[in-house]
Amino acid sequence: MIDLLVTNASELVTCRAEPGGAVGRAIERLEVIPDGAVAVDRGRVIAVGPTRRLRRMYRARRMLSARGRLVSPGLVDPHTHLVFAGSRHHEYETIVTGRSNPGRRLEGGIRSTVSQTRAASHAALRTRALDDLDVMLLHGTTTVEIKSGYGLDQATELRLLRVIHGLRHSVDVVGTFMGAHVLPAEYADKRDAYVDLVIRTLPKARRYAEYCDMWRDTIGFTETECLRVAAAAVRLGFKLKLHVDQVSPAGGAELAARLGATSADHLDYISARGIRAMRRSRTVGVLLPTVTYHMLEMMPRTERGRSKPAEKAFWPALIRSMIDGGMRLALSTDYNPGTSPTPSMQAVMQAAARLYRLGYAEIWHMSTINAAWALDRGSDRGSVEPGKRADLLVWRVPEHGMVINRFGVNLVDTVVKNGRVVVEAGRMTAPPRASLR
Ligand SMILES: [Zn+2]
Repeated sequence: MIDLLVTNASELVTCRAEPGGAVGRAIERLEVIPDGAVAVDRGRVIAVGPTRRLRRMYRARRMLSARGRLVSPGLVDPHTHLVFAGSRHHEYETIVTGRSNPGRRLEGGIRSTVSQTRAASHAALRTRALDDLDVMLLHGTTTVEIKSGYGLDQATELRLLRVIHGLRHSVDVVGTFMGAHVLPAEYADKRDAYVDLVIRTLPKARRYAEYCDMWRDTIGFTETECLRVAAAAVRLGFKLKLHVDQVSPAGGAELAARLGATSADHLDYISARGIRAMRRSRTVGVLLPTVTYHMLEMMPRTERGRSKPAEKAFWPALIRSMIDGGMRLALSTDYNPGTSPTPSMQAVMQAAARLYRLGYAEIWHMSTINAAWALDRGSDRGSVEPGKRADLLVWRVPEHGMVINRFGVNLVDTVVKNGRVVVEAGRMTAPPRASLR
């Protein structure tokens, strides 16, 4: 007798791929099992196949009929700034109406979130984060990465990391220290002193965070500064992530590949050299299409401290050159109050089709198995196959393309996390917060 048998999926999308993720032509080949079923025991998938075969093989304590609907792996969101205070909707209105020059608004906007976050209590930050995790779970995200980086002083950065580390929720949380997010205003002409502070914070941050992230860009940190932080972080056992080339071509992708970072995120201004360097590495490129959607031409381009109107590379051609260049790629929300105030991976999947002109198979791989590899967890989750964690979604629609084509509504019906049904008919079945159990 096994714990759970999910049956009668019109399509079971497994998102199975080679170790390292779906790359090159393989990203277009999505495994779809018609009338599919999944056998689950002790939190893990033990068998996958047609319903008729699995029904013959197993008796289960709980049967879950997908009733002719799509079944997929849980979505993985490998880049968020989920713990913050306040809202930046006023700033957004001035930007969209053109009443303010986007200029250095991005940097200024991050600093405004920093001052609100510094003023917020641990309890307030935690409550808000748990509410956001509820929303993510209901929208199908079962694993999420969360960064600090809205503290920019030692006490607040560590407070944010303690909040992240202490989140007990059905959604699995992976913590990242991002002291090197932007230079805080009070260090405007003391760059080295701030980098020293980040390095001094690393040993304490290591208790709560698995990754160290830094922003390599003209409005973030220089290559030399990033190398200093990275060297100290690696000595303490951190794995690396980098925000790169978001507002200008800064050689960030090359740096991430050279450092052996787990991921290099944003990449709007990646160069041909950057693509070659990434292909030769194991570093996953993480694309953030809801940032593109939300900001579009309003994202400033900054060079040598001067803001210019954005002259974006044509995204579809740019991203196609990354795929054709053999890069491994994932998708993420970059959930944050300024440039991407959505916690929904469904919104990301839809924006990826519309703005990056990616195909459905590419988008599914990038939101599941490749996103799991962007968190070094691809051998544990991100696909439906024997041995993997049983994180499964039953959707309200019968075909995987419909999830990407329809937009503005939540299409998740049921969420299974570690073999347990935690969302049913679009509602949470039990308190998702471990502290309440
Ligand atoms: Zn980010």
